[in-house]
Amino acid sequence: MTYRVPTEEQTLAVESFRKFLLAEVRPVTHTYRDRFIPKATMRELTQRIAEFGLPGCTVPVEHGGMGWSYTTQGMLFEELAACSCDVALCVMLNMGLAAMLPGAAPELRERYLPEMLAGRIFGTIGIRELEIGSNVTEITTRAVRDGDHFMVNGTKTGITHGVYSDVFVCAVRTEKGLSHLLIDREAHGYETRNVGKIALNAQSTAQIVIADARVPATHLIGEEGEGLNTMKEFGEHARTHLGVLSVGLMRAALDESIAYVTQHAQFGKVIAARQLIAAKIADMAIRTDAGRLLLQRMLGMMDAGLRCDVQASIAMAFAAEAAVQVCRDAVQLHGANGVTRELDVERLLREAMAVPILGGTPEIQQLAIARALTGVAAFD
Ligand SMILES: Cc1cc2nc3c(=O)[nH]c(=O)nc-3n(C[C@H](O)[C@H](O)[C@H](O)COP(=O)(O)OP(=O)(O)OC[C@H]3O[C@@H](n4cnc5c(N)ncnc54)[C@H](O)[C@@H]3O)c2cc1C
Repeated sequence: MTYRVPTEEQTLAVESFRKFLLAEVRPVTHTYRDRFIPKATMRELTQRIAEFGLPGCTVPVEHGGMGWSYTTQGMLFEELAACSCDVALCVMLNMGLAAMLPGAAPELRERYLPEMLAGRIFGTIGIRELEIGSNVTEITTRAVRDGDHFMVNGTKTGITHGVYSDVFVCAVRTEKGLSHLLIDREAHGYETRNVGKIALNAQSTAQIVIADARVPATHLIGEEGEGLNTMKEFGEHARTHLGVLSVGLMRAALDESIAYVTQHAQFGKVIAARQLIAAKIADMAIRTDAGRLLLQRMLGMMDAGLRCDVQASIAMAFAAEAAVQVCRDAVQLHGANGVTRELDVERLLREAMAVPILGGTPEIQQLAIARALTGVAAFD
C-alpha cells in the first residue's frame, strides 16, 4: 500500500473545514471546557459539520452521502479531533451508524439515515454492560420474540453520547444468539444517565436502561444471531476513527508545544534552542507521523474494498499509546503551565488517557494481532 499525496480537492476540503472549526466550533468547546454541551448546542454544531461531509463522507450518493473516500474522511476527521475530541466522538458515533444503515431494511434507512447525515439526530451503539466489556460474547441484555416484535430488557453502560441519543443500536441476546436492534427513544423508550469521567465531559458517556421496550423485528441491523459479524464490521470502522482521533490529539499537542517552546525562554534562550527539548519535539513528530501513516494505510485498504482487521488493530493500538506519550511530553514541555487549566495540554493528556479504553483496549488489540500472526488464540 503506497502513500498518496493529498489531491487538490482534499487539500481544499481540509483547509475550509479547519477554518470553520477554528471560527465556529473552537469558541463553543472553549466555553464548555469539561462541561456538558447542551443537546441543542451540540446539534447546531453537528448540523454545521454535516455541511462539510461528516458523518456522510463515505455514504454512497444514492443514499444521500457524499460518496467520497475513507482517506478523505480520515483527513477531515483528524481536523475535527484536533479541534475537539468531544465533538469528534459525537460525530464518530453518527459515522458508525451512517455506515451501518445503508445495509439495513429500507424502512429504517429511509427513516433515520437522512436525519443522521444532516446531523439532526444522534445515534449511538451500545455493547458494554457493567460486567461485560472486552468479552462481548457474554452480553446479557435480552430480546425476547413476541410475534413481529422483540421485548428488550437490559442495562448498557459507558455509552458514548448516550444522553444525546435519539436512536440506539443495542447489542442484545435473542434465542438465535447475539444480534443488534435499533431502538428509538421516542417510539420504544429507554432511559439514560450521564456518568462523569476524567475527561470527555463536554459530551455524554451514559448508562442506558432498557425496560420492556417493544421493538419491531424490522429494526434488526444485520441478521438475527449474526451479531459478532456486525460487531466485527463496526469494530473495523470504530478502530479506524479512534486511531484518527488519537492522531488528532497528537497533532494538537505537537502544535501547542511548538508554539510554546519557540516563545518560552529560560537561561536567556527560547527553550526550543536546547537539545533535549528539540529531541522531545522530534520524538513527538515521529510518533504523530507514524500513527497517521498507519492509519492512512488502513484507510487506503478500506478504499480498495479490502478487509483490514489486523491493520486496524495495529494502527489503533499504536496511535492510542503514542497519543498518551505525546500528550504527556506536551505537558512536560510546558512546565508548571502545562498542568494548569489555563492551557490546553493538560486536557489533551486526560483525553489521550481515556481514548485507549474505547472500542477495544490496546491489550485486546495485541491479542487479536498475535492470534492473526500465530494462528493461536491467547484468549480464554
Ligand atoms: C469514554 C468511553 C466511551 C465509551 N463508549 C462506548 C460506546 O459508545 N459503546 C460501547 O458499547 N462501549 C463504550 N465504551 C466501553 C468500552 O468499549 C469498554 O470500556 C472497553 O471495551 C473495555 O471494557 P471494560 O471497560 O469493561 O474493561 P475490561 O474488559 O473489564 O478490561 C479491564 C482491563 O483488563 C484488560 N483485559 C481484559 N481482558 C483481557 C485479556 N483477556 N487479556 C489481557 N488483558 C485483558 C483490558 O485491556 C483492560 O485494561 C466506552 C468507554 C469509555 C471509557
